[in-house]
Amino acid sequence: MPMAIDHFIAGQKVPGKSGRTAPVFNPATGLQSGEVALASTNEVRAAVEAAVAAAPEWAATTPLRRARILNKFLTILNERIDKLAAVITSEHGKVLSDARGEIQRGMEVVEFATAAPQLLKGEFTEDVGTRVDSHAMRQPLGVVAGITPFNFPAMVPMWMFPVALACGNTFILKPSERDPSASLLLAEWLKESGLPDGVFNVIQGDKEAVDALLNDPDIQAVSFVGSTPIARYIYETAARTGKRAQALGGAKNHMIIMPDADMEQTVDALMGAAYGSAGERCMAISVAVPVGEKTAETLLAKLEPRVRALKIGPGTDPEAEMGPLVTRQHLDKVSGYVDQGVAEGAKLIVDGRGVKLQGYEDGYFIGGTLFDHVTPNMKIYKEEIFGPVLAVVRADTYATAARLINEHEFGNGTAIFTRDGDAAREFAHSIKVGMVGINVPIPVPMAFHSFGGWKASLFGDHHMHGPEGVRFYTRLKTITTRWPTGIRAGAEFSMPTMK
Ligand code: NAD
Repeated sequence: MPMAIDHFIAGQKVPGKSGRTAPVFNPATGLQSGEVALASTNEVRAAVEAAVAAAPEWAATTPLRRARILNKFLTILNERIDKLAAVITSEHGKVLSDARGEIQRGMEVVEFATAAPQLLKGEFTEDVGTRVDSHAMRQPLGVVAGITPFNFPAMVPMWMFPVALACGNTFILKPSERDPSASLLLAEWLKESGLPDGVFNVIQGDKEAVDALLNDPDIQAVSFVGSTPIARYIYETAARTGKRAQALGGAKNHMIIMPDADMEQTVDALMGAAYGSAGERCMAISVAVPVGEKTAETLLAKLEPRVRALKIGPGTDPEAEMGPLVTRQHLDKVSGYVDQGVAEGAKLIVDGRGVKLQGYEDGYFIGGTLFDHVTPNMKIYKEEIFGPVLAVVRADTYATAARLINEHEFGNGTAIFTRDGDAAREFAHSIKVGMVGINVPIPVPMAFHSFGGWKASLFGDHHMHGPEGVRFYTRLKTITTRWPTGIRAGAEFSMPTMK
């Protein structure tokens, strides 16, 4: 009997009442493990009302007290990281060490948010005019919502809610319906940490729930992470309904390999970045661009045996380097891209299609796949595949390689591997991408910096977490003060200026 996966509203689990549900599968076995509720507009409204009711008191709670609750939450996460990782692996499929890694990266945002008193300190200027002072402060927005993708069921929500809560907002999370259970553990542990009921709510669901959030007049801001078409839709709809929005979309991340790169290091880096988490990362490297034919030949000679030797297995197998894909539909989609690449004339060097693992015959497995001689007009180059498929695009010069990246629709992450400081500096300065690595394959910024791409990888003005997160989740107010001094300035009808 699959487990019912509920909402979490006003401090408790609430079973779905809409009559609509979706199955949740264990990707390693292909067996259904859960049945997640899909919220109706009315159920979303119930969560919003809980968040509205909790908002004034939470906003009035001092930043230091908010930070103490987040600190307690951090302790609980530390103690129970294995439990959360197991839940993630059972619904997402990623290997346990990777699941623990994503929780760790999420916890770093909680650590950042525990600095709430420092982050919300504001600014003060004495004597902006004679005996006139100004101070600026950041106030919470009210009720905010987060809509998250399947690929990081703990980390991506944690890019959002620790900062939102630290800033004094109440929060509604709408996680992916493909791996929804992690969200409920997070909600329960926040409550256990002392978070008042209604400050953090989870609404399970699909488009209906998302649309209800977007159209609810009490929601002040929406954070979204997912695919580009939905990110664009979220941003446009939120703008129309007068909400602040940050919507992070898809990616096609290139790695340039210069002729002087340390090839052993480069291949190690590329293996993890292209095939880790079965390529289901928005910062995965999906395009390798060796500069010069000799670089390409050396790279491929080293890469091919490594891709063939990748250890594929269920996420619970400590030996496995790569687990299954998230759903059967996604497996079919990724395999379809490999068919497409062959049809388009790319050279398939390693074919991961049709992998069958003993004991896991119904799991959604695909092996590491490697294409050479991919060209920019091919669909497998233009579109995000989101699987363990690496495309090698050969470039004759650095300029050609950089042009490829700059002309691509997406601009999430990129990397260059080189020993040449000039080339690296030029790359960092002029490449049109939000997150750049120099001999670092997956340059995900730490929690105290901010995460976000450019072009079709982000709609909105603010990146996530770090200082940008604080700006996103607060409104700036500036107060100018003069106390009566007995001096009469008289009525002023012209624009006030410093005399
Ligand atoms: P997705 O866009 O299918 O779903 C994301 C969220 O949107 C889910 O909560 C889903 O329920 C909801 N949703 C789906 N269809 C919708 C619709 N028609 N209307 C309203 N809401 C809808 O994305 P996914 O498959 O869960 O995640 C993978 C994608 O996320 C990839 O494109 C990946 O690059 C991207 N991603 C981006 C980043 C980033 O930082 N830029 C990080 C992680 C993932």
